[in-house]
Amino acid sequence: MAASRVLLLGGTGEARELAAALAADPDFHVVSSLAGRSAAPVLPDGEVRIGGFAGASGLAEWLREHAIDVLVDATHPFATRMSAAADRAARAAGIPLLFLRRPGWRAQHGDDWHLVSTMDEAAAALPGFGRRVFLSIGRQEVSAFAGLRDHEFVARCLEPPDEPRPSRLTVLLERGPFSRADELSLLREHRIQVLVTKNSGGTATSAKLHACRELGMPVLMVRRPPAPEGVPRARTVRQALDWLRDQPPRDP
Ligand code: NAP
Repeated sequence: MAASRVLLLGGTGEARELAAALAADPDFHVVSSLAGRSAAPVLPDGEVRIGGFAGASGLAEWLREHAIDVLVDATHPFATRMSAAADRAARAAGIPLLFLRRPGWRAQHGDDWHLVSTMDEAAAALPGFGRRVFLSIGRQEVSAFAGLRDHEFVARCLEPPDEPRPSRLTVLLERGPFSRADELSLLREHRIQVLVTKNSGGTATSAKLHACRELGMPVLMVRRPPAPEGVPRARTVRQALDWLRDQPPRDP
């Protein structure tokens, strides 16, 4: 039987883990897709393509041209445009789609979380929480805070934040995972009063939440946007592999 051809929309640790498992399995041929945002991406095992598809119709065409049997969307939970396009494109191409989404974080006893729906909402709420702010939100949305001139920001991201930026900004170019001790010393060294983050989930960057809990520090937490409905979901790489192995072969 021919190997099942999988297009894996990536950009996350889970996507890399799944790509490694599929690349090592002769029943699958995996092509990972990256958006191309990072100048030096960590490349997954197996075949890799880089760059957008030009929307859902471009993706549907790509799926047909490359005879893809199954689409897996393992993008970040906040990559909503790509997920919406994946849903439309899989329907148009008539192939199954799986979402691989790590569970979101949940507030625990001792947490002081304040939930917001967007980064603009977080920026509007910030004046109530303190002037020294740690932004752990990636580089694309730091500009939501550019209008806050009385605040001092520390932003941690993989690459320099997009413009416009807040006038008082320290950028830390670092890649996780981070330990609780790392996070405590960062918060103390920069005399941070409030953390802004998105509910990404996972363990690679969750230590900051433990550190905030320990210090009694408020967290402005951006809720996860809803993912398209009616699409099968896996919460772990193991579940995704089981689902892929259960897919019936496509008609030739
Ligand atoms: P987005 O807003 O949902 O997507 C914007 C556009 O980028 C899409 O319409 C698509 O362009 C292209 N794109 C996104 N993911 C792609 C992929 N895996 N392969 C090919 N093209 C892709 O996404 P985003 O929030 O900018 O995230 C971009 C990438 O960074 C994603 O792969 C995501 O997994 C990763 N990432 C995002 C975050 C986050 O917080 N958003 C955090 C960590 C990693 P076309 O319309 O031209 O097809």
